[in-house]
This record gives sequence, C-alpha cells and structure tokens, in this order.
Amino acid sequence: MPAQSSAAETETFDVKRIGHWIAGRSEPGASGRIAPVYDPAIGAQTAEVALASPTEVDAAVKAAVGASQEWRSSSLTRRASLLFRLRELLDATREELAAAVTREHGKVLEDARGEVARGIENVEFACGVPNLLKGSSNSEVSTGIDIRTVLEPLGVVAGITPFNFPVMVPLWMMANALACGNCFVLKPSEKDPSASLILAELVQRAGFPDGVCNVVQGDREAVEALLAHPDVAAVSFVGSTPVARHIYETGTSNGKRVQALGGAKNHMVVLPDADLDAAADAAVSAAYGSAGERCMAISVVVAVGPVADPLIDAIATRIPDVVVGAGDDGQSMMGPLITAEHRDRVRSYVEHATDEGAKVVVDGSGTRRGTGFFVGCSLLDDVKPGMRVYDDEIFGPVLSVVRVPTFDEALALVNANPYGNGTAIFTRDGGSARRFEREVQVGMVGVNVPVPVPVASHSFGGWKASIFGDSSIYGPDGIRFYTRPKVVTSRWPDAGPSSVELHFPTNR
Ligand code: NAD
Repeated sequence: MPAQSSAAETETFDVKRIGHWIAGRSEPGASGRIAPVYDPAIGAQTAEVALASPTEVDAAVKAAVGASQEWRSSSLTRRASLLFRLRELLDATREELAAAVTREHGKVLEDARGEVARGIENVEFACGVPNLLKGSSNSEVSTGIDIRTVLEPLGVVAGITPFNFPVMVPLWMMANALACGNCFVLKPSEKDPSASLILAELVQRAGFPDGVCNVVQGDREAVEALLAHPDVAAVSFVGSTPVARHIYETGTSNGKRVQALGGAKNHMVVLPDADLDAAADAAVSAAYGSAGERCMAISVVVAVGPVADPLIDAIATRIPDVVVGAGDDGQSMMGPLITAEHRDRVRSYVEHATDEGAKVVVDGSGTRRGTGFFVGCSLLDDVKPGMRVYDDEIFGPVLSVVRVPTFDEALALVNANPYGNGTAIFTRDGGSARRFEREVQVGMVGVNVPVPVPVASHSFGGWKASIFGDSSIYGPDGIRFYTRPKVVTSRWPDAGPSSVELHFPTNR
C-alpha cells in the first residue's frame, strides 16, 4: 500500500471501501491490492480504494463488449433522451458531487461546484447527438448512384483520468463517447475515486443499459491492462506529460486510437499598457485557484518592461487576502494539496528558489493548518529558464515572475517552452494582442482572460508536450475521436414496397 503521508501525521478513521462498477453493479474488488484515500484538509485516511487486477479490467471490458451491440444499435432519439435524463440527474446531484470532490481532492466547494458545472456542459453538448452525427451525403454522384458518409462508433473505449478534476475530466470523455454509441471503461485517479462511482450510478439511473459505462479503480497495473486489451479500440488520457507520452506510445503500438493530454507551464504575458488591477487579480486567481493544481493554472507571469515592479507589488498585496483552509468551511479560498508527498515537493521548490538565483517575494511554504496537506501562496521574482522552478511543472501555488524588456522577448520565451497548453496576454492594445494570438505556439489563448478553458462546443487541447496524438478532447474533436467514418456508395434500381399509414409518424 503506497504511503502518502508519514505515520505521525496520519490519523486513521474508520475507512470505507471504494470499489469498481462493472456491468451495472458495484464490485468491491478482489485483487488484494488497495491504496489509501485521504481527506487532504485533515491529512487523515478516510477510505481505501481497490486496485484492479488485469482480470478485473478484463471483466469490465467484457461487460462493455457485451453491451456494445445493443448500444451501438440504439436510436439517436433514445441516446439523446437518456443523455437529457443524465443531465437532469447530474443537475440534481451537483452538491453531492462537489462535496465528494472537496472531501478527497481538497479544492474549495465553490471551485468544486464550478468543476461540476463545466462537466455537465459536456453532457448538454452531447444531448445534440442527432445533429452531431449527421455525416454527409451527395445524391447522383454518378448516374443513379448516391454516396453518404456515416459516423460509426469505435466499440469499447477507455478513459484514464487525473486527480485534479475527478468529475469534469471523466465527463469530457464519457458524454461524447456514449453519445456516439460506444461503451466506456473509466479508470479514474486512485487519489480521489469516489466521484467516479457517483457518475456511474447516475448513468445507470438515467436508464443506460448495464455495461455501457463501467469504472475500474486502479493504478498503473490497471492502465497497462487497458492498453494491452485487444477489445479496447481507443484510449483517452489526461494526466502528466511523461505518462501521457507512455500511454500514447504503448496504446498506438497496440493498434489503438489514442488522445493523450499532458502537463503544462502556462505563461501570462502582461504588457505595460495593461489594466494593472485586472492583471493582478487575474494572476492571483489563475495561479492560486485550486492551489495551482490545474493544467490551465498560470504558473509564470511574464512582465514586460516597466510593468514588473508595480505588478509584483499588486500581486504581493493581494496574497494575504487569500484565505487558506478546509474546502468546506465556507470561508477558505484555497484548500490543501492532494497528498503530503506533493505538498513537500511543492515546498522544496520554494525553499531552493534562492539557491537558483530567484528572489522569494512571498514565501507560503511555511503555512500550516493542523495536519492537513496545506501550503500557502508563494511569489518568486527574477526567475529564468534553466531554474527548476521555471522548467518543472510544480502543480502547486507557486507563481514565478520572469522579467523581459520587450513584447518580442515575451513571445519568444513562451514559444521556447516545451509545453503549449494555455497562455494569456493582458493588454489594452488590440494590435499586440492580435499578433500574440497569431504567433504564439500554444493551443489555448486568453486575451485578458487568464484561464481560457474552451466551452463544451469547442475542443480543448494544448500543443507540443501538452498533447500526444492529433485530436483535442471534447466538443467537435470529441465526436471525431469517438467515431470512424464509413462511406457508402449505393445504387437502387427500383423503389421498394409501400403501405398506407395515416397516423402521425413518431420516433423511437
Ligand atoms: P498522473 O499522470 O500521475 O496520473 C494520471 C492517470 O494516470 C491516473 O489515472 C493514474 O492512475 C495514471 N498513472 C499514473 N502513473 C502512471 C504510470 N506510470 N503508468 C500508467 N498510468 C499511470 O497525473 P495526476 O497527478 O493525476 O494529474 C496531474 C497532471 O495532469 C498534471 O501534470 C496536469 O497538468 C495534468 N493535467 C492535464 C490536463 C490537460 O487537459 N492537459 C488536465 C488535467 C490535468
């Protein structure tokens, strides 16, 4: 059992068992392997999660294969009506889902509610499945010959998701995968697994047939079993870059379609003409929201020319107002980190920043709240490429400021970074913003918007080391990823038989 905090820090409560969801039933897990699940706000283990063996993964894939024929043949009317029902159930379960996220992830409730809302938007998008799967056609491409391209499901598809969005990221995948007629096997993060079971139960209550949506809890062993399974046609992955690369390489070499979204180092460029207060508010919100555990968090502010000193002052002035504490206390703005090990890693970046030549403007590394996995907000100045605080994805509440003299150097800095997930520019100058938007080598760009996560009708995806594969996730790319086109060329010499039906035609 992997230890995630020291014995001295860990108070052990009566732990509940979190198992799998296979073929419409909960399964406690029989592999004999488990991992602890913590409430990071109190630093105590509150549950244990079963870690699936390859046999259990196989059972989930078999359940999905068993449901595939019925589900792929179900009418678009039926699929849309089940998705609408799922949307209503999710809407009624927002608070329960958000509470589960806060309990195991640690983010504050308001943030967890936001995650749930952004997840539901993907189900709302998928409700339009009759429109999304329209395909295309031409009549009379040759004399008496018609042609049409139809979009067919892939079969069984798997989703492997990170700890930081245990509701939203599974819904990025699940909603469109099911809408397109696929059966789905989710392997959520073992660090906050409870939300996945709530989602699976809601899918069942909405009326989807058993086996259409399954959950296997687990770690690397379950992932490898999914990647090797001959009946898994495609894999969607969201997580860190080294794992994303591995998933892409292994999955594609096993003949699967793979989209693998990785980590990030997101820069926010602030030009001297920017609204200073708006930029400082945005930097604080985007760097410290969710304790920096977001792939779209801003971790580097690129201060251009004379804006640096006043901007750093404005950010530093705001940091004491960020209330750090338990996510469910109604007052806190920033919760704990996911594990004690991760908290210690984040602290060490701040502790060693001066050795590398950076200046610590605000040191939050000493912030403690009881036995929880807390760390406060840190702000570093004079950061440069080549320092660990700049080169690594810290994934915590540490904001670095890089000073550059010109817009061109700011742009070059962003483009030289190996990651390309998100970026933002703060300026009042339309010409600079437009040039930035056109020349920056990053997949998602905000103009005076610090966290430009696209709405569900546009796809989400970074560039460079932030993604492996040629498909972004959700939105139109999600529909393309979860279908394959079939082109039918047909000639019909005669009309078929007909009958008289006077009633109004209805859909089933
Ligand atoms: P992670 O890569 O450690 O884990 C992601 C998933 O992969 C989990 O389900 C985990 O069980 C599994 N996994 C972990 N190690 C594995 C291994 N060696 N082999 C096979 N499977 C393995 O990521 P995390 O710590 O859960 O999440 C944080 C990371 O995810 C950050 O890097 C963040 O930037 C990234 N992220 C990216 C996006 C995006 O859309 N680009 C969104 C959210 C998070």
